[in-house]
Amino acid sequence: MISVEEAQAKVLEQVEPLGIEAVDLMASVGRVLAETLIAPHDLPPFDNSAMDGYALRSHDTLAATLSAPLPMRIVGESVAGGSYPYPLRSGEAVQIHTGAPIPEGADTVLPLEQAQIHDGMVVVDTPVRSGMHIRPKGLDVKAGEPLLEAGMRLQTTHMGLLAALGLTPLKVYRRPRVALITTGSELLPYDAPLKPDAIRDSNSVLLRLWLSAWGVPFQFLGIVPDAEEPTLEALKKAVREAEVVLLTGGASVGGRDWVKPALQKLGAETVFWRVKMKPGKPLLFARWQKTAIFGLPGNPLASVVGLLRFVRPYLRALEGEIQTLPPCWTARLGTPVQKNETRAEFRTARLTVDEEGVLWATPTPAQGSSLLGSLFRANAFLYLPAGERYYPAGTPLKVLPILPMEGASW
Ligand code: AMP
Ligand code: MG
Repeated sequence: MISVEEAQAKVLEQVEPLGIEAVDLMASVGRVLAETLIAPHDLPPFDNSAMDGYALRSHDTLAATLSAPLPMRIVGESVAGGSYPYPLRSGEAVQIHTGAPIPEGADTVLPLEQAQIHDGMVVVDTPVRSGMHIRPKGLDVKAGEPLLEAGMRLQTTHMGLLAALGLTPLKVYRRPRVALITTGSELLPYDAPLKPDAIRDSNSVLLRLWLSAWGVPFQFLGIVPDAEEPTLEALKKAVREAEVVLLTGGASVGGRDWVKPALQKLGAETVFWRVKMKPGKPLLFARWQKTAIFGLPGNPLASVVGLLRFVRPYLRALEGEIQTLPPCWTARLGTPVQKNETRAEFRTARLTVDEEGVLWATPTPAQGSSLLGSLFRANAFLYLPAGERYYPAGTPLKVLPILPMEGASW
């Protein structure tokens, strides 16, 4: 048996990033960049007005006073999408709209609200400072400025700037293809009526929904009964079609656990089997040629811990992402916890924020690898490393937040 950290390292050692493809900007959100992005030009690309008003030469207004106001002749208009084509001469003003180019020679904008207009003239009765209400070229981003590094995942918040800079198509890493198999002769599809001695397959539902939320393409190869031949057949199909194979169940030591014998027949190499953690001890990681095979335990919470803690980082690394490990937050323990010191534990917990803004993690009252009800009530896993036995309430501990599915977060 190996520790969580050793298992983590062994999984990530096996990664060989996938190929690169060019995709349209609109399709690139959620993908991992395979190139460094540099601003190809300034943004805004030209000096423009931040207000509706009049573009002036500030120098012309220096002598303006209330008793001796100065008139500027309105010689034209600069609108968004259409600039005033001539240089502004002394004593001239150009009517300007928000976002419209500042005419050559003008260096300030007098807002509409402050402008007095008489007979086609802007009458200025105090000097106007240079540079007022002008958004200079390059204010937002300068040409040549580094924007994103290869290995960063593109977020919706990035896309406005990339669109403004015309950065399309973008080079991104190919997405890994995943095949999913659930094993167990007791399993029924989730939409089947219950039968004696049977339970519904909840693992593949959780796994499929998580993979979908991460945007990982997958094939569900269905429920395989506990027998060597069907397990081997499903595995053969899976390794032909996918770079990552996920199995759930059938990897313990019971006489009816066929995943290991089937992997052996296939000729796969076992990298490790069993990790010092609870739940999720019977986790298996194997390799067949370039395909990674995760034998996740059958117990629902054990398969979820395996998915979030080991499969997800592997998928991220395969996609070339720099940040492979899950976000790790620190929260104070809500109730005291006692545990066995030899294994690390992942406990289902609820994260809450108190009035002072402090994050608390309170373990769900029931803990057990088969208890779907505990996962149902949780929004995080509390991580208790091996080596400790007792944690008093208030101890700062690491938590693995279970983030809302993308579409549901807002
Ligand atoms: P196994 O690892 O196959 O021995 O399964 C361990 C426990 O998890 C058993 O109680 C199984 O019935 C249960 N189990 C296995 N696969 C699933 C599944 N897909 N959905 C729900 N429970 C499962
Ligand atoms: Mg089973």
